[in-house]
Amino acid sequence: MSSVASAPVRVRFCPSPTGNPHVGLVRTALFNWAFARHHGGTLVFRIEDTDAARDSEESYAQLLDSMRWLGFDWDEGPEIGGPHAPYRQSQRMDLYKDVAAKLLDAGHAYHCYCSQEELDSRREAARAAGRPSGYDGHCRALSAERVAEYTAQGREPIVRFRMPDEPITFTDLVRGEMTFTPENVPDYGIVRANGAPLYTLVNPVDDAAMEITHVLRGEDLLSSTPRQIALYRALIELGLAQSVPEFGHLPYVMGEGNKKLSKRDPQASLNLYRERGFLPEGLLNYLSLLGWSFSADQDVFGTAELVEAFDIADVNPNPARFDLKKCEAINADHIRMLDVKDFTERCRPWLAAPFAPWAPEDFDPAKWEAIAPHAQTRLKVLSEITDNVDFLFLAEPVSDEASWAKAMKEGSDALLGTARAKLAAADWSSAESLKEAVLAAGEEHGLKLGKAQAPVRVAVTGRTVGLPLFESLEVLGKDTTLARIDAALARLAA
Ligand code: GLU
Ligand code: ZN
Repeated sequence: MSSVASAPVRVRFCPSPTGNPHVGLVRTALFNWAFARHHGGTLVFRIEDTDAARDSEESYAQLLDSMRWLGFDWDEGPEIGGPHAPYRQSQRMDLYKDVAAKLLDAGHAYHCYCSQEELDSRREAARAAGRPSGYDGHCRALSAERVAEYTAQGREPIVRFRMPDEPITFTDLVRGEMTFTPENVPDYGIVRANGAPLYTLVNPVDDAAMEITHVLRGEDLLSSTPRQIALYRALIELGLAQSVPEFGHLPYVMGEGNKKLSKRDPQASLNLYRERGFLPEGLLNYLSLLGWSFSADQDVFGTAELVEAFDIADVNPNPARFDLKKCEAINADHIRMLDVKDFTERCRPWLAAPFAPWAPEDFDPAKWEAIAPHAQTRLKVLSEITDNVDFLFLAEPVSDEASWAKAMKEGSDALLGTARAKLAAADWSSAESLKEAVLAAGEEHGLKLGKAQAPVRVAVTGRTVGLPLFESLEVLGKDTTLARIDAALARLAA
């Protein structure tokens, strides 16, 4: 695979601000960011907001917030500016207008007056005859009379780019050499009839203006690359671009059922991962593995290691499968790697409304800090913290009939009675002593520790699974623990 040029690297991340970003977009941002940082290059962040119908200020703000949350920094773009400002395409319309006019003047583009119905019916006919079904070049060389006629009919032309009549070949940084023949890349629209410039024009025009050296983007855009290369060559001829950038197309991300992960897939929504309490570093670690690998025997690494190791030539062109279980496992590792203070802080959102069911005044920071180290080793995602510690902050343990039925068997009352007596006599400054109390109670009833602690856990926390029990009891405190066992005993007696 071709190696990276020695000229300074300039890459771009250029999403359309259409609401909640999806994980495919985040992976593209990540690879561009890692590539830029690895090469000591420049990351340009550009907002492709020329589609007024879909783009809103709200989704723009959401996009920026997402990028910041993920921890990306950029060298040019929104909020920081740069030598090629503005970085929002909606503010660069004059440039596109100007370039379109120059392309028309030089004959690289022409007005196309075909109506949608005409295009459709000719496409049908071509298909039926087994000919290529793309645009047929109908308006490539219209006579002045014909133009006058169309104009008199009130037709508003679009601007179409004239593709060269020869194949376009380039070396993809991920896929190697690719060739597109003219039949497969017909002339294409660059400006709508209402004057609005299209992605096909604004994206390469800005890449040229912003001196982008490497375009790394999803495979779904591969088919637009020969068009953009042809447009680039025209721009070079007009003195509007220096050179054609290199292109690398990142593999598709497959979701459930081995189908392409779509933007609408709930599994694809970045916000969902935020709400569930993925750490940005955990999510980025996992996303980096979609098409790339750090090493054969190491899946968990930080962003600094990623930057150090990242090479676009190592990206695998085959589709990558999104595996939520693996994503969670990697996130769990990142949670464990946090400094405990940091962990304590990062859990805060899930210890308050709207996630936490207890009143703010019932939250006890001392208890939280005492239990946090025991929780840190057990979470896959931070949102799991709420259910794991609610027994500390609710007046009563949650009532869950299934857990109750599962733990409270015949003889549980006798066991609980013995455990209560032994716990009452235990040393409450030591979780070990609490464990010995329950162990001894179990022995008296012929139960192993696991069986003996189940009714205690359900009596005290309401749940069959949770944090290490004896540390939990110690943090909850003697009075509350014994009172909850008493309440369970009363319920069993009733
Ligand atoms: N705005 C385009 C998108 O979001 C950018 C595509 C590209 O990287 O060229 O798909
Ligand atoms: Zn036409």
